Amino acid sequence: MTWQADPARYDAERPGAMQYRRAGASGLKLPLLTLGMWHNFGDDVPLDRQRDLLTTAFDRGITHFDLANNYGPPFGASEQNFGRVMASDLHAHRDEILVTTKAGWDMWPGPYGIGGSRKYLIASLDQSLARMGLDYVDIYYHHRPDPETPLEETMAALDHIVRTGRALYVGVSSYSAEDTRRAHEILASLGTPLTIHQPSYSMLNRWIERDGLLDAAGELGIGVIGFTALAQGLLTGKYLEGVPSDSRAGRGSPRKPLDPNVSPEAMERIRGLANIAEDRGQSLAQLALAWALRDPRVTSLTIGASRVEQLEQNIGALDRLDFTDAELAAIDELAQD
Ligand code: NDP
Repeated sequence: MTWQADPARYDAERPGAMQYRRAGASGLKLPLLTLGMWHNFGDDVPLDRQRDLLTTAFDRGITHFDLANNYGPPFGASEQNFGRVMASDLHAHRDEILVTTKAGWDMWPGPYGIGGSRKYLIASLDQSLARMGLDYVDIYYHHRPDPETPLEETMAALDHIVRTGRALYVGVSSYSAEDTRRAHEILASLGTPLTIHQPSYSMLNRWIERDGLLDAAGELGIGVIGFTALAQGLLTGKYLEGVPSDSRAGRGSPRKPLDPNVSPEAMERIRGLANIAEDRGQSLAQLALAWALRDPRVTSLTIGASRVEQLEQNIGALDRLDFTDAELAAIDELAQD
C-alpha cells in the first residue's frame, strides 16, 4: 500500500502533537521523542512492520531516527532496512528528517572495527552511508569512550567528518562529565561544536544527575538525548507479573539480554511508580518518559518500540509533561538506581 505523509504531522493544535527542543546552544531542534533502532529493525523483523513503525513515527512528528553501525541483527541490518524504507517511502522527506548513526562498539573483525581511531570512525561512517543509501547523516556519534585512543584523535576524526560533509553535527555517547568537557574543548579548538551527548537515563538510572554530566551539558550548551528511558521495558510495567513471551526478555536477545529478574525490592518500587502514574491518569511508560523530559536540558529521548501501539501510547506522554513538587518528591523516593 502506498503511504502518504500525514499533512497534519506538524499541527501543534492536534492531540498528542509533537514538541521540539533545541539541542543545547545549537540551532538544531529535536522532537521530544526519537525512534531508536537498536532492536526491532534487524533482519529478524518483517520489513512491513519496520515500515509501519517508521512511517507512523514520521506521521506523528518524530523527525529523528537513531541508529548505529552495529544495530541489527546482524550488524548493519538496521541501517540497511532503514535505507530500504527511505528509498520506498521516506526519501521525499529527507530534508525533514534527522538520521543519526554511531561507531565505537564492535563492528568488524580486527583492530580497525572497534574503538575510537580515525581509521575506524571514518571507514565505518562510509559503510553506514552506503548501507542507508544516504549522502550524509545529520548526527554522527562516537558511541562510547575509548581509553586506548587519544581523545584528540577521535575528536579530530569527528571534525574531519563534518568538514567533508559526511555529517552535519557530531556527538558523543556515554562519556563521563569530565571526558565530555575535554571533548567539547578539543572540538571547539578545531572549530566544530560538540552538539549533543547520548547517555543512558531513566527513573532507574540517574547517573547523569550525580556525575555532573547534565550540569556540564547545560553549562557548555550541549544537548542531551537520553537512551533506555523505559529501562528496556521494565518501566512499562510489563514484567510486574512475570515475563510475557512476546516481550524483549521473553524472546531473549543474542547480544545484551535484558534481565527482568530485578530484585523484589526494585519491583516494588516500579509498582509504586505505576501507582503514581495511575493517579496522574498516565501509563507507567508515559510517566517514565514525561519524568525524563522534566529537565529542559534533556533535549529528547531515544525510545524503542516493537509495535505501533507502543509508539502511540508513548507519544501520549506528551499530553502530561507537567509535575507538581509533591509528585516529584514521591517519585524521588522510588526512582533510584
Ligand atoms: P527502551 O527503554 O526505550 O525500551 C524499548 C522497549 O520497551 C521496546 O522495544 C518494547 O520492547 C518495550 N516497550 C516500549 N514501549 C512500550 C509500551 N508502551 N508498552 C509495553 N512495552 C513497551 O530502550 P531500548 O533498549 O529499546 O533503547 C532505545 C534506544 O536507545 C535504542 O534504539 C537506541 O537508539 C538507544 N540506545 C543507545 C545506546 C548507546 O550506547 N548510545 C545503548 C542502548 C540504546 P518489547 O515489546 O520487545 O518488550
